Amino acid sequence: MSDCIFCNINQSRIVDSNEYFYVILDVYPVTELHTLIIPHRHISSYFELSEEEQSSLFLLLKKHKGKLQKIDSTITGFNMGINDGEDAGQTVFHCHVHLIPRRKGDVKNAKGGVRGVISSKQSY
Ligand code: 5GP
Ligand code: ZN
Repeated sequence: MSDCIFCNINQSRIVDSNEYFYVILDVYPVTELHTLIIPHRHISSYFELSEEEQSSLFLLLKKHKGKLQKIDSTITGFNMGINDGEDAGQTVFHCHVHLIPRRKGDVKNAKGGVRGVISSKQSY
């Protein structure tokens, strides 16, 4: 799509790619080395991925999880996430998966992790 940021990504930002996806570092990282995995084809929702694409995505997620931990030994966990739909917070309507490295003590209380999308419900 001509007006889509992720269809028109500057090639110099791409750190890796395979047949179906490419990988970039997020320009507004939640934590250092926050990574995005993005399909080459323009779809807005994760649920439009084929099974073959989902398998390929999983392999890239695993590969980059390993790579990040290799280059930064302070990474002790990850949050993975997809904002699917405007009401879930999606702002770029070209599917992308967030791989967010976490480090011990990066927030006062990490308990609940992705439950924090509704901040009052994170802690339970
Ligand atoms: P989401 O749609 O997942 O809510 O947010 C879009 C994500 O894309 C944000 O984390 C944002 O930082 C990231 N991003 C990475 N590269 C770009 C870019 O070039 N422009 C914009 N607007 N967002 C980008
Ligand atoms: Zn696109």
